[in-house]
Amino acid sequence: MQRGAVLGSTGSIGTNCLEVIGALPGQLSLRGVAARQSWQALGEQSRRFAPRYAVLEDSALRPTVPRDAFSPQTELLFGPDAVAQLASDPEVDVVVSSIVGAAGLAGTWAALEAGKRVCLANKETLVVAGPLVMDLARKNGVPLLPVDSEHSAIFQALQSGRPQEVRRIVLTASGGPFRGWTRDQLEQVTPEMALRHPNWKMGPKITIDSATLMNKALEVIEARWLFDLGPDQIEVVVHPQSIVHSFVEFVDGSVMAQLGPPDMKLPIQYALTFPERLDGPAPRLDWNRNMHLDFHPPDLETFPALALGFEVARKGGTCGAVLNAANERAVELFLQGQLRFVDIPRACRAVLDNHTFAARPSLGDLVHLDRWARDEVTRWNS
Ligand code: MG
Repeated sequence: MQRGAVLGSTGSIGTNCLEVIGALPGQLSLRGVAARQSWQALGEQSRRFAPRYAVLEDSALRPTVPRDAFSPQTELLFGPDAVAQLASDPEVDVVVSSIVGAAGLAGTWAALEAGKRVCLANKETLVVAGPLVMDLARKNGVPLLPVDSEHSAIFQALQSGRPQEVRRIVLTASGGPFRGWTRDQLEQVTPEMALRHPNWKMGPKITIDSATLMNKALEVIEARWLFDLGPDQIEVVVHPQSIVHSFVEFVDGSVMAQLGPPDMKLPIQYALTFPERLDGPAPRLDWNRNMHLDFHPPDLETFPALALGFEVARKGGTCGAVLNAANERAVELFLQGQLRFVDIPRACRAVLDNHTFAARPSLGDLVHLDRWARDEVTRWNS
């Protein structure tokens, strides 16, 4: 029995994660849940699963949240320290890190420091501080298991060979809602248009990232650190159906892929129960229906965000933290109608060019740069 803590339990990954835990009562139990502000949804989860802890990161909510919205068996805690406390609770075996953005780093760090197995859905953690996070996991001998569907696919395909036998990995990208569009057409994109993803139902930040292809850029950086690959060993191919979740090419030319319907329950379950495969709630492919699988190279000119990802994966150091923070701020401004869609990668480019590069930054340096890059986007846009 694995006892889990889910950080970011009311988001898209978090709610899928609770579905998986609820479907495997003999193997998984829920020790705690944490959300930023969504106390109604958190209260529902508490009443359904009766976990020991429920945490609201925003302590300003303390006076307004009614205690009876939560199960009497659940202790309700507030503030960022309580998130770290849950992540390091002695009776937690596995922590699912699914808080969106750079905000997810603190909980992941606390879990790794406490020696917990971490299921990582928060790609920004590795984009911002990949080498530091991987060092900590290695030092404490704890596994860091990917939940991102592409990285789960790579992780599963990697079981077919040894690390030194990998030639390259190929991440698949749906191409988002604007696949095949021209640069001129992208000038007209509104938040409403960008929030309609053809294949995946996700939160707003990652949906915008999927439309700019910044999501794939962040995934290239994530893969670089997670799998300890050279930047030239990572490629991206557009695959509009989102059935092949990524693949690994070995030195002998053999290519191993992982397939499944576009649904997060399988990668979540695999990370939670690895190395076991269990009969769980994930949907199945139907081989009695006609199916086409298309692949084509990405258009880096129309979607320059992806090129930024390859560049940052190559340079490392402070670049990941700067790109990530600049993008988070640019997406925020875009969703508020204050910055154009095509300006998201432009703002990121400008802020990357303006920053003072360091090859081996500390965690403190990265936190500082994160704030600087957000302010810099605001300035660039004014
Ligand atoms: Mg992904």
